[in-house]
Formats: sequence, structure tokens, C-alpha cells
Amino acid sequence: MTMKRIGLLTSGGDAPGMNAAIRAVVRTAIYYGMEVYGIERGYAGLMDDEFVRLEMRSVSDIVHRGGTKLRTARCMEMFTKEGQQRAVDALERHGIDGLVVIGGDGSFRGAKALTEGYGIPTIGIPGTIDNDLEYTDYTLGFDTAVNTCIEVINKLRDTMNSHERISVVEVMGRHCGDIALYAGITSGAEIIIVPEIPYDMDDVVMRINRSRENGKHSNIIVVAEGVMSAEQFAKQLQEVTTYSVRSTNIGHIQRGGSPSMADRMLAAQFGNKAVRLLKDGIGNRVVGIHKNEIIDMDIIEAVSMKKKFNYELYETLQMISM
Ligand code: ATP
Repeated sequence: MTMKRIGLLTSGGDAPGMNAAIRAVVRTAIYYGMEVYGIERGYAGLMDDEFVRLEMRSVSDIVHRGGTKLRTARCMEMFTKEGQQRAVDALERHGIDGLVVIGGDGSFRGAKALTEGYGIPTIGIPGTIDNDLEYTDYTLGFDTAVNTCIEVINKLRDTMNSHERISVVEVMGRHCGDIALYAGITSGAEIIIVPEIPYDMDDVVMRINRSRENGKHSNIIVVAEGVMSAEQFAKQLQEVTTYSVRSTNIGHIQRGGSPSMADRMLAAQFGNKAVRLLKDGIGNRVVGIHKNEIIDMDIIEAVSMKKKFNYELYETLQMISM
């Protein structure tokens, strides 16, 4: 079946690159002669009938902007059968043949509910800074968020060096340590504390002392939010070290900003692939990237995969950040 009209929404936490993906979906759909309706505020707007027609020029000048033009929301009603029925009714009222959902794991579960329970063809585009989905090597927004963390850590290093301090920096990622891992390696942090690996404060102190004996004047410890706050960690550390400890929470700055080249490229490829699948009448899939190739996978299979931590990268960090 060729689809004539598709819907598009962003859901869950926002991520840089969502706008670039919206653009790619809209332009690809128009290329294939389909109509696109943007749905504002995620599943909440779907239930409240907030549909806007998106034309070629509606998505001009957004490729470089962070956030999401369609805005996003969390919607508790989507967990209920009644809520899902309201969503389906709205899609039917607008004659929507297929739906593209840009979001994280939770948003995909919402799409899965529409697919499994009501037969709505859906395609998921992974848009979350957390990089917490196993089926894809990278999610949209992760690269930009890590770049923002690097920038902050570089600045912290300058001041920590001058005062010979230890900086504990908190990054996002929910239950996933990937932002801490990638930002840690690429900014030269000595230590990362992630939910996937239990930490030992004696070992942390030993590493700090060893680095000082080796001539370092400061230390950076990146703590993933899934473990504890930077403030809490800094407090614990200050009790067992004579070096002065400071804490910084990068916070929501990680979510904003112009997307990096890597995220814009992913957005273009994910958006394009999502519409090509729907065009061929294929639904119930998620798109991703694996070993540098754009892939698609069954949505049910994708959300049931458990995210694995990259221990090899962790070991690399331990070897080179001395
Ligand atoms: P991020 O990882 O960036 O936070 P996310 O998509 O995982 O993004 P969630 O808050 O988990 O964010 O989910 C977004 C929305 O998806 C929820 O508010 C809800 O409307 C819908 N949703 C989540 N899980 C389910 C589920 N099991 N069934 C139906 N809908 C769901």
C-alpha cells in the first residue's frame, strides 16, 4: 500500500538534531508525493488533536537549531488503553496512514502500543541524548550533548589546574553511562563513575594520588547522573582526600545547542530512511546506525534489547588517563 498522508511527532526528552530529522522526514515525504502532518507536544498533542500541516517551507531554517519545532511532552494517558484509543481516533480523523515517532525508549513503547494494539504502521527514529538504545550504535543528539560536555570540562580543567583542585562533573544519561564514558575519554578525565560499574572510593583516591605523583596538578571526575549527583560525590570524596574538591552539574545545557555535523548527518539519514520504509508500506520498525550503516529493525525486538556497556572503551580510558 502506498501511503498518502503521514504523521510526525517528537516525544520524551528533547535532543539536538530533532529539528534536522523533522526536516528530513518532511522533505523526503514531499519528494515521494506524500502529505505530512506534524503533531505538536508528542502523544499529548496527538490526543488533543494538535495537528499542523508541514510543507516544504515549514521546515526551512531549522536544520541548525536545537530543541524541537514540534515541541515535546511526556504523556501519562498514553500508558492507558483509553488514551491509546484517543490517539488512534485522532489519527483516523485526520486520515493518517502511518506515523513517525522521534524519541527514546519510552516513545518507542508508545509507538509499539499503537502498532501492536491497533495496527497503525509506525517508524521510530532514535532521538535522545542518552544513547541508551542497544540496537543502534548512536542516537540522535548524543554527539552534540557529549561535545557540550567536553567544552565545559575543558574550561573546568583550566581553573582546576590553576588551583590544583579536583573537579567532579555531573553529566546526564539517565541509567546509561555513555555520556560520561565518551565525554570522559575525549576530554581527558581521569576517572568516570557510571551506573554500569560499581565504584570504590579507595580506588578513586589511589588514582588521584598516583596522578599527582606523576606530575598532574588537577583531576576531573565525570559522574553519570544515574549514580548520584556531583555534589554528593564531591562531599564523599572531600572526606577522604586533602585536595580541594569542587562540583559542577552541567545540567540542561547538555540538551540544547546547534546539532553537530554527526547529529545532522544522522538526522538526514534516519529521517530519509523512515519515510522510505513507510512509502513501501513497511511499518513497525525503528531506524538506527550499526557499523556505519543505516539499519532498520522490528520495533518490538528493538525495545526488548538490553543496552550493553562498552567495557573496552572503559579500559581504554583507564589506560590513557593517568
Ligand atoms: P528520553 O530517553 O529522552 O527521556 P523517552 O522517549 O524514553 O525519551 P519517556 O518519558 O520514557 O521518554 O517516554 C515518552 C512518552 O512515551 C511517555 O510520556 C508516554 O506518553 C509514552 N510511553 C512511554 N512508555 C510507554 C509505554 N510502555 N506504553 C505506552 N506509551 C508509553
